[in-house]
Amino acid sequence: MKISKEFVFDAAHKLLWHKGKCQNLHGHTYKLIVTVEGQLNENGIVMDFGDLKKIIVNNVISKLDHKYLNDIFENPTAENMVIWIWNQLKHKLNLYEIRLWESPTSCVVYNGGEKY
Ligand SMILES: [Zn+2]
Repeated sequence: MKISKEFVFDAAHKLLWHKGKCQNLHGHTYKLIVTVEGQLNENGIVMDFGDLKKIIVNNVISKLDHKYLNDIFENPTAENMVIWIWNQLKHKLNLYEIRLWESPTSCVVYNGGEKY
């Protein structure tokens, strides 16, 4: 079974290679959904949502929220961010999928399965 936890954070970036307005410094309200999978334990849960939240806040949200993403990423596209998020969490959670929305209508979906 799979469970998901959703987060919202704000961050700024600029995309230096972009030929249009994304080259300028601007911000996004990102939405992140992390989905993990596992067997039900003896209490009938995959894992405690509170524990899931703590791991994601400590390893991802605290490092990205209200940050200038170009200080962290050479090229802070949502695609590169989602790979970084996966790598931050992959040894701590049984990840199934990560979705990162850069805007209410644009999201990246990653399952770690492809090599980049
Ligand atoms: Zn942007």
